[in-house]
Amino acid sequence: MKIYNTLSKKKEEFVPIEEGKVRMYVCGPTVYNYIHIGNARPMIVFDTVRRYLEFIGYDVNYVSNFTDVDDKIIKKAIEEGSTAEEVSKRYIAECKKDMADMNVMPATTHPLATEEIGGMIQMISTLIEKGYAYVVSDGTVYYRTRKFADYGKLSHKNLDDLEAGHRSIKVVGDEKEDDFDFVLWKPKKDGEPYWESPWCDGRPGWHIECSVMAKHYLGDEIDIHAGGEDLIFPHHENEIAQSEAANGVEFSKYWMHNGFLNIDNKKMSKSLGNFFTVREIGEKYDLQVLRFFMLQAHYRSPLNFSAELMEAAKNGLERIRTAASNLQFLADHAEAEAFLDGEEAKLAEAKNYVDKFKAAMEDDFNTADAISSIFELVKYANQNADGSSSKAYVQALLDELKTLCDVLGIIVETKEEMLDSDIEAMIEERQQARKNRDFARADAIRDKLLAKGIVLE
Ligand code: AMP
Ligand code: ZN
Repeated sequence: MKIYNTLSKKKEEFVPIEEGKVRMYVCGPTVYNYIHIGNARPMIVFDTVRRYLEFIGYDVNYVSNFTDVDDKIIKKAIEEGSTAEEVSKRYIAECKKDMADMNVMPATTHPLATEEIGGMIQMISTLIEKGYAYVVSDGTVYYRTRKFADYGKLSHKNLDDLEAGHRSIKVVGDEKEDDFDFVLWKPKKDGEPYWESPWCDGRPGWHIECSVMAKHYLGDEIDIHAGGEDLIFPHHENEIAQSEAANGVEFSKYWMHNGFLNIDNKKMSKSLGNFFTVREIGEKYDLQVLRFFMLQAHYRSPLNFSAELMEAAKNGLERIRTAASNLQFLADHAEAEAFLDGEEAKLAEAKNYVDKFKAAMEDDFNTADAISSIFELVKYANQNADGSSSKAYVQALLDELKTLCDVLGIIVETKEEMLDSDIEAMIEERQQARKNRDFARADAIRDKLLAKGIVLE
């Protein structure tokens, strides 16, 4: 399997650090509002990467954080007259609901920055001890960027060509040794959340959060680190500088970045105001359509959002769903149970499309081509199955189709078609587990329901 690695700017053969296992970290959203469909792109894309890795047999430890302390969250809390904690808790819950509606699987762990402060203080201390960080008079701690010889290796920039990153937190009147130095820890301001530290009461910079959460849940060396391409610089470059200086080993072997979701060829973003929230789109469309729309493009290509393309995605998904429900009907009404003459050969021919699907996914997760092979399978099934086919044969075709859609996280059944009784039984079992104070079991069932797109209020 080949993965395009931003580090080498090449497609590379994927070799995991530990056989059969993948350690993967995806930078998550800052939670101060509903997520927009630009934020949804990395969620859908890397959830699909994870699903494929699991499909081919890897055990994936998938970690994706929530940044729950940040200037924007604090600003929102002040506007509302509430607290940063209240704001972030609310939008984490809303984000999880959107993820479930887009059939994005819950991560193995969703760490919160505010719960990892101890680890951050530890890593910052190590960086100071090793000479990679320094404290100035007000207690701000900076990373000494020029000391890290490999700085720029991910973004392929030379320090001298670089401008200081816009997301590093600058303090007025600071005593930075160099413009490229970025904040690891900064003093509190009145009314802001803060934590005690050896340097001052304050809070972490954004970049250190991810270095620490990745280390805590995945270890010093990970296989895949991912996020949107706007994170390459400075965020991921700074994560590398922190982690590699502190841990003394290569941080991540593969760096994957998705292209932007655009509107009128401009990046969709909160600051430009040119965004749609996932919630808004969910009012107009089944969010499976949004997922399908995203996966019809290669994840590294820019993707322009438009009503026409969403309609096209809706029609495409409909074609697959119609084929699946026809096959289901044929399976339910077939006269012959076992394979009839020639059907096994036909099924073998249909498997060619499965092979094509896999080949596309093995080539840097080319979901656009993978979807084309699903359409070919649909066409083949439409032409090669009818009322005279056996149950075994149509069922096998349907299973193939469902398996491929499932790898992409596309649910073939509409929600109404899902068995209500199964869901009722799971809810019942969860209530029983809660009564028995078996909260682990109750949570596991809740997550299972979440994965089916069902949120318990
Ligand atoms: P943020 O909350 O801004 O840190 O963004 C969370 C994730 O969404 C990051 O991986 C960003 O790179 C990604 N992202 C934000 N806007 C877009 C966009 N318009 N297209 C694709 N990815 C985006
Ligand atoms: Zn990050």
